[in-house]
Amino acid sequence: ILGGGMVGGYAVGEMVERGVGPGEVCIISDDSALPYKRPPLSKDFLKGEIEEPEVFINDPGLYADHGIEVRLDTHVDAVDLEAREIAGEGFTIGFDTLLIATGAWPRPLPAPGAHLDGVHLLRTLAHCRAIKAEAADARRAVVIGGGFIGMELAAGLTVLGVDTTLVYREERVMVGRFPEPIAEYFEDYYRARGVELIAGADVASIEGVGRVSGVMLGDGRTLPADMVVAGIGVTPRVELFEGGPLTLDDGIVVNEYLEAGVEGVYVAGDSARYHDVLFDRLRRFEHADNAQAQGKHVAGVMLGERAPFRHVPNFYSDMFDLSWNYYGDRSAGERVIYRGTVASGEFVAWWLADDGRPVAAFVLGIPWQEAEVTAQVIEQGKAIPEDVLTDESVALGELVEGA
Ligand code: NAP
Repeated sequence: ILGGGMVGGYAVGEMVERGVGPGEVCIISDDSALPYKRPPLSKDFLKGEIEEPEVFINDPGLYADHGIEVRLDTHVDAVDLEAREIAGEGFTIGFDTLLIATGAWPRPLPAPGAHLDGVHLLRTLAHCRAIKAEAADARRAVVIGGGFIGMELAAGLTVLGVDTTLVYREERVMVGRFPEPIAEYFEDYYRARGVELIAGADVASIEGVGRVSGVMLGDGRTLPADMVVAGIGVTPRVELFEGGPLTLDDGIVVNEYLEAGVEGVYVAGDSARYHDVLFDRLRRFEHADNAQAQGKHVAGVMLGERAPFRHVPNFYSDMFDLSWNYYGDRSAGERVIYRGTVASGEFVAWWLADDGRPVAAFVLGIPWQEAEVTAQVIEQGKAIPEDVLTDESVALGELVEGA
């Protein structure tokens, strides 16, 4: 297994459940830590609400107990899919079957001064430890990027008592993920909790000598800062496979079995552009649930259970005390209708295809067990009258046929 992130962790766990023997699995990771869950790094672990052992995917003893070789801090320089060998400085490992679980890496901030001390990206446990350590003494933080990391970090740092400004180049937070009324609701919520929001702003440079002292915006304003975190997206880590037999197109292209087109080679997680059988399209999905579900699934396929990956894409977040879930594929939606009002903080936003099928749902303020039902509604792929979808007196479960 090339990659010790979430896919690697869940794949190993599943392989152990399915009875792999000692010496049959090796996991190679350039991280220093055993596979861990990433969601807590921008949520409860960041805020100190859970301790480090709770972020690990498997019991640390599982690897030795089942004879799984784990090579941490190991950088791979080359993968030869024909000779079936992985090589790095001073080592070569052969394989019969390969799971590529190399994930993605944060885009560096393209601004002068991004190298200064106190400027952070967030992907790894080590990154998170560094951010936590600095937040303990920082008075002012600037968070750059209006996506997931930006929103979660701005909330987390504020909860930790750091005066936080969120700077993003778009006019709204979570552009492309939230419809306008939901983005507005979140922005108001953040402002009410003390986060300063600066929309439509470019970062011109990070200021400081040795260490960050501020962030200069494109309009010349400088925001003082003791620390900066940038969350401006990620790039799939597929450079080892450039020029080889795999098809690269925003990730590595795989079919619905997560097979990469070379016998015994599989890809899962952030670096996989897979055939989603539910929506009949290729997609790459950068979320924890996908890494977990694909990691487990591909382990089964690798061990002989050749079933297509069939899963409603979903993600969730906690931002202050707002917990929300999203399911489906909004790109297949023509319009959005609401069950409940956004202002109430308890609602479902349904994206409908032109034939009336719900294809995506955003759910806020509803217990997740209920929220999950929306995934079943989407999966059944049937049109439902709008007045039924928006009627709060109809339980969500009633929308699932045969439930
Ligand atoms: P993200 O959610 O993709 O958001 C990045 C934002 O930064 C986008 O709005 C992007 O705009 C913008 N951006 C890109 N280049 C920029 C630049 N040079 N200057 C300013 N803004 C720029 O990515 P992220 O927040 O960095 O999160 C990293 C990864 O972790 C993502 O894959 C994300 O899905 C995942 N994550 C998920 C969760 C969750 O599911 N709850 C939580 C944390 C992280 P464009 O879209 O126009 O490029």
